[in-house]
Amino acid sequence: MMLKFKDPRITPPGGYIYQDPDTEQKFGACYLKDLVEKVRVHRASNELEVPPNLPAIIEDYICKRIPPSMTTEPAREQDFRERRLTLETVRRGTQIAMKAWKRTGKTVSKKEAKRRAQVCLKCIFNTDSTACASCHGLKTGVRDTMGVKTDDDKALKVCMVSAIMNVSHIHMTEKTLKAFTAPSIIDKHPESCWKRILFEEGVSDGTTN
Ligand code: SF4
Repeated sequence: MMLKFKDPRITPPGGYIYQDPDTEQKFGACYLKDLVEKVRVHRASNELEVPPNLPAIIEDYICKRIPPSMTTEPAREQDFRERRLTLETVRRGTQIAMKAWKRTGKTVSKKEAKRRAQVCLKCIFNTDSTACASCHGLKTGVRDTMGVKTDDDKALKVCMVSAIMNVSHIHMTEKTLKAFTAPSIIDKHPESCWKRILFEEGVSDGTTN
């Protein structure tokens, strides 16, 4: 479902920003129509297709990066994105996951962890907690303990649905994930979530050791 602004007269926080998915060039403008025009000209001059619904695509892109209460996003997803997780909640969730991981110490392949990280980066639930300045120490601790990392670690934040640092569970095997994840929470993750797909479809998780 393409999201729209609840009130198009209100400028979104941070302004009208868009990153072209093909060239990865970023654009900003004071008005939506100016932003659409910039992107249209950019794509046309690079001989890329200009979709007829480009304004809707750009509006949807922005809506997925601003508070859902400013958009037409359904209430169920809003609940999690507007969740205000404290550092303590994230610490507890991450500690439970790490405890389960320590039973085997197994991780998935680098390729699989990178794939998962890329999914998280595009996800609306990869978000700062209320105490994110303090999350850095937790993130560093997780990386040091697990001894694994990805190029995307800097941009990985907290999973608002799982209440876990994303740098931790992206490396965990299906068996470990199932040891600490309540089945009732799985369908709260978006359909594009790697974890939800793993639980529902049982795709290979690339375990190497
Ligand atoms: S819901 Fe899934 S894809 Fe989104 S941040 Fe959490 S683990 Fe990553």
